[in-house]
Amino acid sequence: MPSIIWFPIFIFALLSSDTVFSSPLSSIPQPGTTSTERSISIYLDPGHGGTELGAIAHGVIESSLMLDFGKELKEAFENQTDFRIFMSRDIDQTKPLSQRVTEAHEQGADLYLSMHANSAQSLKAKGIEIFFQAPQKTSSEGEAVEQFIGDLKEFGRQQISYSLSKNLKQEIVTSERDLKTTPVRIKRAPFYVLSKTRIPSLLIEVGFLTNPRERQKLQQKKYREQIAEEIVTAVKKFVDTRHLQKDFSDKTSKRILN
Ligand SMILES: [Zn+2]
Repeated sequence: MPSIIWFPIFIFALLSSDTVFSSPLSSIPQPGTTSTERSISIYLDPGHGGTELGAIAHGVIESSLMLDFGKELKEAFENQTDFRIFMSRDIDQTKPLSQRVTEAHEQGADLYLSMHANSAQSLKAKGIEIFFQAPQKTSSEGEAVEQFIGDLKEFGRQQISYSLSKNLKQEIVTSERDLKTTPVRIKRAPFYVLSKTRIPSLLIEVGFLTNPRERQKLQQKKYREQIAEEIVTAVKKFVDTRHLQKDFSDKTSKRILN
């Protein structure tokens, strides 16, 4: 399912530019790391837990499904040498969102990933939804992207804006092709874990529990592991993309300066 891979890459690319204005990944102090080599530190947050069950459909409970998925995702990340993973919970427990965000900051995490499963009144609702922070909820992917591009212009980062708009065009074309089989939507919303984090953060709804087909797929470990691998691949590629973007910016700056 290439769409699952490409959309996170696109969204991470967007976030990488956002970090230029706030807290670049590489500048965040890494507790306990003294060598110049450092791994990417990720705060992995399986949504809900304890008394907060999240979505429930036909006996499938979001909080426990996400706990399983969180562990699988942690393992997938740890199969790579580049990542250090902190989990908000590795047992079924109630933990306030504020505590999760505080922990992510205290751990010096570079990235916050919140994992959820979706629900809707319509049994036909399907697909993966990737949320990033917004002051207000947007109703469509186009609106989300437009809002973000607007933010970039506001900051006057024209070289990054140019680079992103090229990425954007490319990824939207890819997504339209893949939407037939696996819809993947990018949205913005003022969710707590996205609004209160000072680091790049995403909330990923891996599928709709209310959709019988997706509910069945999400209960399969193999399917969840596939999504986990795709997320890991996307993050790895994002790290590389950042380097490329840095080169791009440096070259552009030199050209302007000369
Ligand atoms: Zn949820």
